[in-house]
Amino acid sequence: MRIAVIGTGYVGLVSGTCLAETGNHVVCVDVDINKVNKLKSGVVTIFEPGLENIFQRNIREGRLTFTTNLEEAIKDVILIFLALPTPPNEDGSADLSYVLGVAEQLGKIITDYKVIINKSTVPVGTADKVKAAVAENAACEFDVISNPEFLREGVAVEDFMKPDRVIIGTTSARARKLIEELYKPYVRQGNPIIFMDERSAELTKYAANSYLATRISFMNELALLAEKLGANIDNVRIGVGSDNRIGRRFLFPGIGYGGSCFPKDVQALAKTAKENKYDFKILNAVMNVNNIQKHILSEKVLNYFGADLSGITIGIWGLAFKPNTDDIREAPSLYIIQELLDAGAKILAYDPEATSNVRNYFCNLDETQKARLIFVERGWDAVKNVDALAILTEWTEFRGADLAEIKANLKQPVIFDGRNIYDLDAVEAIGFYYNSIGRRTINNI
Ligand code: NAD
Repeated sequence: MRIAVIGTGYVGLVSGTCLAETGNHVVCVDVDINKVNKLKSGVVTIFEPGLENIFQRNIREGRLTFTTNLEEAIKDVILIFLALPTPPNEDGSADLSYVLGVAEQLGKIITDYKVIINKSTVPVGTADKVKAAVAENAACEFDVISNPEFLREGVAVEDFMKPDRVIIGTTSARARKLIEELYKPYVRQGNPIIFMDERSAELTKYAANSYLATRISFMNELALLAEKLGANIDNVRIGVGSDNRIGRRFLFPGIGYGGSCFPKDVQALAKTAKENKYDFKILNAVMNVNNIQKHILSEKVLNYFGADLSGITIGIWGLAFKPNTDDIREAPSLYIIQELLDAGAKILAYDPEATSNVRNYFCNLDETQKARLIFVERGWDAVKNVDALAILTEWTEFRGADLAEIKANLKQPVIFDGRNIYDLDAVEAIGFYYNSIGRRTINNI
């Protein structure tokens, strides 16, 4: 099939590339001319494991192209995917201006039947708004499908190629037939395509993300209680997660959920509830817990060293909001770095992929703080001669690091671990002050 994907960010680039991988002809559209130029010259603009290979292959095979010209891109296609940003407005609601803006443009330029498939995460009722925006000018038939995307950054290619399920919201038999055909190669192992109405599909996406965020906030609160009770949250997590009714995933306590989806989607669902005169009490608690949790690690540092961190250097391992991505949107590291800088600390920060994004994020710091935030190229450079190491993202390379070597490099053998990556007994045997989440604090310097 011939397909256009509008918006070539994390979702659009992965979707476009994976749609080309099964033999479709895909043109990806973006308004960011620098991004499109890079993609045209064969540069993958995001870090996503497994993407580079299939990206290069499909460009070589002529199945994957890039453009800034929307009108050209949609001329010969039948399916148009929207993978556009839906960032939060100030009041927490989703900003639909990108999606509706493109819908309006499409209405003016489509000349034959198209199926417009929305992959962006949007509030319930958006499919109707998209239909209305297109219909205002469209002189031909079209359908709008709600097809929320569930890929996870870090394993996005795998998730797209073998989704647990595909959710399709449509009441049009014509559109359903086309999309069913398109997704066939991705569900060969029996994973279902679930058809429903547009509103239910839109709500399913928010429900999934909000429920996962709820599990995380629940575990984060439980971790705080475990610390007070002298229990080990990791044992509790394993015990609880081995119950089939509960399952093992999304039970890891830490320093708060981040990323481009959970924070904004929980907020947006709470806002939708409020607009419909329903106070979604659990969601409010989930957000409150997360806001507290983002500050837990810097609090631990300040409790240990005192409120004034002048003269103290903290090494940081991990800046991305989770491993295997360079995405730093709403990453806990951003809050923690700012708090440590405000308290006077000097920081040596390292991440395998996200350093340049964080450097850009902090480009407007005042000069004194800027001078105290140093990005290093190698993980060990963030450990050498610093007063403490703070672990903010659980990249695999940190998990296997030699604890004795860490101790030998640190000025003081002090670790604040926001991701519980080390075994308490091993840490104790080598001799550290080691403060993690929901577990006893080791004080064996
Ligand atoms: P992103 O910011 O990485 O990418 C969006 C892209 O759209 C950008 O490249 C931007 O330049 C482009 N764009 C903006 N206006 C445009 C226009 N008028 N025409 C063409 N391109 C335009 O966003 P993302 O992370 O890919 O998320 C997109 C949507 O998918 C959001 O609604 C998000 O909630 C949802 N989603 C994201 C993920 C994820 O893991 N990132 C997962 C599932 C769903």
